Amino acid sequence: MVSAAKKRSLRVIARMDCNLAWEEALHEHPEWFERNSDGSPRADGESTWLYRTCMFSAYFSAQMPAIYREINRRYPVDGFFTNGWPGTDLPRVCHCENCRKIYREKIGGTPPDSPDLTNPLYRKFSETHLERVKEIWRLWDLIAKERQRDSLYIGNLGGGIRAAKSLKQLSEVASWFNADHQGRSGNTPIWDCAQQGRVAQSVMKGRTITCVTGAYSNSSVVWRHVAKPPAEATLWLAQTAASGMVPWFHWLGGSPEDKRWRDVGRSFYQWLASNEGHFCNRRSLAHLAVLYPQSAIAFYKPSQPAKGRLRGPFDSADYLNGLYYALLEGRFLFDFVHQEDLSAETLAKYRALLIPNAAYFRDSECAAVREYAARGGSVLATFETSRYNERGERREDFGLAGVFGASALGETLGPQDNTYMRIEQRHAVTSGFEGTELLPGAESRVAVKAVPFAPLVLSVVPHYPWYPPEMVYPRATKTDEPAVILRQDGASRIAYFPGDIDRTSWVSGNTDLSLLLQNTVRWVLGDSRQPARVRGEGIIETFAWETDPGYALHLLNYTNPNMTRGFIRRFYPIGPQQVEFDIAPGKTISDVRALRASRSLPFTQSDRTVSFEVPSVTDYEVIALT
Ligand SMILES: [Zn+2]
Repeated sequence: MVSAAKKRSLRVIARMDCNLAWEEALHEHPEWFERNSDGSPRADGESTWLYRTCMFSAYFSAQMPAIYREINRRYPVDGFFTNGWPGTDLPRVCHCENCRKIYREKIGGTPPDSPDLTNPLYRKFSETHLERVKEIWRLWDLIAKERQRDSLYIGNLGGGIRAAKSLKQLSEVASWFNADHQGRSGNTPIWDCAQQGRVAQSVMKGRTITCVTGAYSNSSVVWRHVAKPPAEATLWLAQTAASGMVPWFHWLGGSPEDKRWRDVGRSFYQWLASNEGHFCNRRSLAHLAVLYPQSAIAFYKPSQPAKGRLRGPFDSADYLNGLYYALLEGRFLFDFVHQEDLSAETLAKYRALLIPNAAYFRDSECAAVREYAARGGSVLATFETSRYNERGERREDFGLAGVFGASALGETLGPQDNTYMRIEQRHAVTSGFEGTELLPGAESRVAVKAVPFAPLVLSVVPHYPWYPPEMVYPRATKTDEPAVILRQDGASRIAYFPGDIDRTSWVSGNTDLSLLLQNTVRWVLGDSRQPARVRGEGIIETFAWETDPGYALHLLNYTNPNMTRGFIRRFYPIGPQQVEFDIAPGKTISDVRALRASRSLPFTQSDRTVSFEVPSVTDYEVIALT
């Protein structure tokens, strides 16, 4: 097979599994396997005749290398990939002899019952675990290169915004990021794949990222041997390409009885191949950064006051998802910036940094944001951002109190229905709210004391009963507690919302809160206009890249009844989109081409701005400016 592929100039990656091994191996090498606290080995839940291997054992440091070397000797493969490993979730607790020894000698203590980041022993273990991942990754990469210098080892990452292992640290050993992000289920919004692309870009910064699309029907019920709908698979592949990742498309088994997925892959890849140059990105043109708060999404839980309650299960990704949806509605171009990558060099290209409840924030990260604001950068932050350090220990005040212009006054309040924000004075952020003095309030908030010179634009109207109807009247109509703090210091504009308006917007679907977020993003950007402006109907996600041949504007059409639930059944084309696209000074554009529609578009260029109309977008359109 390898020889046949090589004759067709195809590269071949040997796909391996290092997570599980057979019972014979368990008998021969009991020390290779993970153990429960009673010493029993761990069978896989689905294929119960296979057992989990422990990555602190010689199975990873000696046996897998022996297998790689054997393959390298016999077949001209170009690299190795391990399914499922290392993954981005938290490490399991293993009680094998190796792990007990590590706990005893390196960590001090015995393995805890379960993964629990509030347990200092487990935290130390997870750090030791990450060091071992990096050690094994480097070792396997070196072994891959024994055959040829450009061969490599690729681990399996993914998990989108919910990754728990530090992606920044993993990116230090990964020369290639493979996102195992094959599809969606339940209430996952369709943009989950583009969001994965943004997450991976935030740490890979231009290095290769692949994303695996399952051609099969993976959802909350899995069918490995029937295809998912062509529209769903196509939009997943489109998001992969738009966000700057390389699509992988796969099926399991060599004799498929369902062949419907083949046309989906063939047609997308042939289109991609005929336009390949336009997907060679040099840099994103966005000048708006969204801080990807990986620590908070992985570990944060809000404090639960005696009276409050959360509706349904708490999801720490709701803060970012609420902001994300507002950014799509407002048609903003943006990049994710990883919280562990806030250097002046990284932030230099961004006019504003948006921080959706980065509750767990290191001292160094607070310092980086302070310096960014001092250099004239603008900041929008919400709720408990910087209230805890990376271990979840609460600070006396926000780490960013100086930037926010606000100090925390004690416990977090809520969650509560029926709180409000009163418009105290009209401002750019209240644009579009002309018919009302009241706006919906955040479900939870930190009571704060603001610096005296910040104008009171929105005040908090505290909770009053929403039931029974006879009791529904405000007890305090006027307070001076700020619901937002808006400050301007030279070029730097700061907006801090003590409430969780991003999360409240997401869980409630409230449109006022989304508009307030969009207005505030526009305000922090100030005079700095977006590098590409797209006007028209529909909910779309946009990416703008400088490419090898010129520029590319990607438009993903999410306007669909299945945008947030169920597979996409068919597409609903959106009408004309008016685009203004800014290019580098001195450049002249000679062709504006719609790559999906396969035709050139009329355009005008005035100074740095190229203007054109995209007549329609069915699933996805890429406009190449050359
Ligand atoms: Zn172990």
